[in-house]
Amino acid sequence: MFIRPQKFEAIVAKKDYLNPNTVELTLNLHNPNSIDFQSGQFVSLEVAENEYRAYSISSEENSHSKIRLLIEVSHSGKGADLVKRINVEEKITFIGPSGKFTLPNELPNKIVFIATGVGFAPFESMLHKLEDLKFSGVIEFFFGIRNPENLFKEEYLKKYSDQNNLFKYYLCFSQGIGRVTKVLPSKLDLSREKNTLFLICGNPNMIHEMNDTLIKNGINEKNILHEKFTYAAI
Ligand SMILES: Cc1cc2nc3c(=O)[nH]c(=O)nc-3n(C[C@H](O)[C@H](O)[C@H](O)COP(=O)(O)OP(=O)(O)OC[C@H]3O[C@@H](n4cnc5c(N)ncnc54)[C@H](O)[C@@H]3O)c2cc1C
Repeated sequence: MFIRPQKFEAIVAKKDYLNPNTVELTLNLHNPNSIDFQSGQFVSLEVAENEYRAYSISSEENSHSKIRLLIEVSHSGKGADLVKRINVEEKITFIGPSGKFTLPNELPNKIVFIATGVGFAPFESMLHKLEDLKFSGVIEFFFGIRNPENLFKEEYLKKYSDQNNLFKYYLCFSQGIGRVTKVLPSKLDLSREKNTLFLICGNPNMIHEMNDTLIKNGINEKNILHEKFTYAAI
């Protein structure tokens, strides 16, 4: 069941640059002081008066008093500028939770996550959820980033794979071994992935390309879920 979005006031509890282009914000909820959401959903930060930008929640579904967000700040825009400017202890407002990019109630035996950049965010939350659910199937994670300088959260992926031998991840450097859309078909025999659930998140062009590749290789559309990080203001 999806919860109705509502307005929250929060306080910035932590602001960490994971690399020069990516900020992880931790927000302590103030009013109201608790949120219910499903892994994969997003909140809309108020970035100027009555202007909002969507950011996926990267924190755990069972953490109700704070949320974490992963925000790309390489460019200049109302959202990116606010995040660069804001400091710990300052107030921030958002509306949420929203979105239907969530794990199905009935999980398949194999899940493939495909993310570019901050498209990682909803999957961090979903990985926690799968751990909590003691998911016993296979998980493969294809993470597309430009180059090693732009990499973040590798320790998290490494720890997850150390603790779960059914979890495998691939770092796809577009300036190195190739874009995620090229790496995935070289690592998976898609003719054997008919019952796999594919979740794709991040750059809209990557999602189009990946979706086409999967469909052309016989993957049923109902087994592909995606969340496009479009730039347009909502
Ligand atoms: C459902 C959903 C979930 C999202 N989740 C996230 C998330 O978890 N993290 C996140 O960072 N974003 C996320 N986004 C994108 C986010 O909502 C904003 O659109 C994005 O951050 C740009 O907003 P802005 O105000 O900084 O720039 P805007 O004011 O929208 O754009 C200003 C200029 O910057 C350019 N620009 C915008 N973004 C980028 C970029 N990434 N790289 C290069 N140039 C850019 C635009 O083309 C434009 O010219 C999500 C979007 C959707 C729809």
